[in-house]
Amino acid sequence: MTAVILLSVYKLAKDNKVEQGASVLLYVLTLLMIQFMWRYGGLYDESVLVYPCILIMAAMVGSKTVFIRLLVIISLSIGLNAWVNHEAWYTNETPIISLDNAFIILLILYLTSYFIWILIYDFKHLVDKLNIENSNALESKKEVENLLHHDVLTGLPNRIMAKELFQKASSKANRTNQKIYLMFINLDNFKVINDALGHQAGDALLVELSQRMFQLVPTHDSVCRYTGDEFIVIMESIESEEYVASLAHHFIEQIQKPFYYLDNEFICGSSIGISTTSTDGNEFETLIKHADAAMHYSKSLGGNSFHFYNKAMNIHGHKYLSVVSDLRKAIAEQQFVLMYQPKIDLKHDKVIGAEALIRWEHPQKGLIFPNDFIPQAEKSGLIVEIGEWALDQACKQTKQWISEGLNQGLGELTIAVNVSSKQLAKKDFYAKVKSTLSRHKLDGKYLELEMTESLLIDNSDELKLTLRNLHQLGVHFSIDDFGTGYSNLGYLKEFDIEYLKIDRSFISDLATNQKNTTLVKAIVQMAKGLELENVAEGVEDEKVVKILKDLNCEIGQGYYWSKPINVEEFESFVTSFNAYTH
Ligand code: C2E
Ligand code: CA
Ligand code: CA
Repeated sequence: MTAVILLSVYKLAKDNKVEQGASVLLYVLTLLMIQFMWRYGGLYDESVLVYPCILIMAAMVGSKTVFIRLLVIISLSIGLNAWVNHEAWYTNETPIISLDNAFIILLILYLTSYFIWILIYDFKHLVDKLNIENSNALESKKEVENLLHHDVLTGLPNRIMAKELFQKASSKANRTNQKIYLMFINLDNFKVINDALGHQAGDALLVELSQRMFQLVPTHDSVCRYTGDEFIVIMESIESEEYVASLAHHFIEQIQKPFYYLDNEFICGSSIGISTTSTDGNEFETLIKHADAAMHYSKSLGGNSFHFYNKAMNIHGHKYLSVVSDLRKAIAEQQFVLMYQPKIDLKHDKVIGAEALIRWEHPQKGLIFPNDFIPQAEKSGLIVEIGEWALDQACKQTKQWISEGLNQGLGELTIAVNVSSKQLAKKDFYAKVKSTLSRHKLDGKYLELEMTESLLIDNSDELKLTLRNLHQLGVHFSIDDFGTGYSNLGYLKEFDIEYLKIDRSFISDLATNQKNTTLVKAIVQMAKGLELENVAEGVEDEKVVKILKDLNCEIGQGYYWSKPINVEEFESFVTSFNAYTH
C-alpha cells in the first residue's frame, strides 16, 4: 500500500504535478497519524505532534483548500477522539512513557525543526532576492527618470524637467501669492564656434557655460538646458524685478568671459528675454513664448543684453517676417545700390580705393541703411544672394573705372567688399568670386574682401584653401572691425591677411581718449610686426588724422574725407582729391 502511494506521488511529481503529489502525501500522512492517534495514546500520542508539521507543509506546498481540509480533518479527529473518550464510548490507553516515546518525540521535533529551518531559510533567501531585485528596479527607474529629466551633456534639467519645476514652483507661488520669473537665454555666436571648431569644442563650451550659469543661481532657482544653445532659468521667491535684472546682467557678464579651447581664446555672447507670471501669462508655454520674443528683441539690438517682455515685442517678431519678405522682393526687383567710401593713403595723401557699402532703396520706406537690414538678411540666409549682388556690382563698377582711366596716376585703385560668414561658409564661394572677376574681366588684385575676425576662428582646412585660392587670384584680405571680436592674432599669419581695419570705436575719439590712443598705438605696432597694414576707419577730424600720421598708420577712411557716396560723386571726389593733393 505504502509503495503504491509513494509510486503515485513520484509519478505526479515527475509529471510536473508537484502540488498534487505533495497534497496526496499530506493526506496520507494525516490519515496515518490519525490512525496512530486513535489506535494508541489518543490525544497523548506522539503522532499528535506531527499535525502542526503537516499543516506547515500544507501551507507551504499545498493549496489553500488542501490546508483547510487537513485542518478540518485534524480538528474533527481530535474533537471526536476527546468526545468519545470523555463519554467513555471508546478509551485510548494512556501510553507509558518510555525512552522509545522520548526518541519518537525528539525525532518528530528534529524533523519538524529541520523542515521549518529549510522553509524559513528558503523564505529569507527569497525575500533577500526580492529586495535586491526591487532596489535594482528602483535604481533603473531612477536612472531612466534622470535621463528623461536631465540633459546628458551638461547634467542640467532638460525641458521636460523645466516644465515640471515650473509647475511645482507655480503651485507654491499660487499659495504664497508670489511671482515666478522665467529667463530665456540664447547664446549669440555659439553656432559660429560650433561650426568652426567642431562639436567637441561646442560641447566643451556648453558644459563650461552651464557651470558658470549654475553657480550664479540661488539653490531654489533652476537653470535648465532648453534646446541646443538655449537655456532657461526659473526664478521663484523673488523680491524685486531689480534682482532679476541684476541676475540677468551677471549671466551676460559670466557668459562673455573668455573660453579657452586648445590654446585658443573665444568669447561667446548671449541674449536674454524675461517673462513673469500674472503679467505675461500663467502657463509655462505662454511664458516661454513671451520670454523668447523678448530674447529675440535683445538679439536684434546686437545681443549681450536682456529685456523684460512687453506686448510690442510680438509686433517686433512680425516685423522681422515682413522685413524678410520685403528683402526677397528687394533682391528680385534689384532695389539695392552701392555707395563708395574713399580710402586714403595717409603717407602720400591719395585715394587708393574705396569700400563698397550697400544701401536699400525701399519703394515705400525710402533709403535703408545696412545696419537695419543686414542682421535680418544674415539670419534668413538672404545675405548670400545680396552679397553676391554687391560683389558683382562692385567688380563691374571697378572695371569701368579702370577702363575709364579713373585710377590713372593713382596707383592701384582697389575695391573693398564686405563678406558675411554665411557667404564664406558656402562651398562655392571661391568659384563665385573667380567667375565674377572673369565675367567683368577684372584682375583679382583690384579686389579686397573685408571680413570680421569671428569669421577666421574657423581655421578649417577648407577655409584656408578657399582663402589661399583667392589669394592666388591676387585678391587681398582685410580684417574688419578689429578689436571688437576675438582678438586672437595667431590666425592672421595663416590666412594671408594684409590689412587690419581698426574699429571705428577706437578711432573716432582718438584725439580725446588717451586710453584709445595707447591702444591704437599698440595695434599699429603689433600689425607692423606681423607685416600688416593698418586702416583706421571712422576718421572724423583733422586731429585724429594727425595722430594717425604720427603713429605711422598707413590708411584712413572716414567722414573727414568723405561719407559713402554714389558713383558720380565718387568719381568727382577722386578727380578733385587727386588734383588738390598732387
Ligand atoms: P563696416 O564694414 O564697418 O562699414 C563701415 C561703416 O562705418 C559704414 O556704415 C560707414 O558708412 C560708416 N562710417 C565710415 N566712416 C565713418 C565715420 O567717420 N563716422 C561714422 N560715424 N561712421 C562712419 P554703413 O554703410 O551704414 O555700414 C554698416 C555696416 O553694414 C558695415 O560696417 C558692414 O558691416 C555692413 N555692410 C555694408 N555693406 C555690406 C555688404 O555689402 N555686405 C555685407 N555683408 N555687409 C555690409
Ligand atoms: Ca567693412
Ligand atoms: Ca568696420
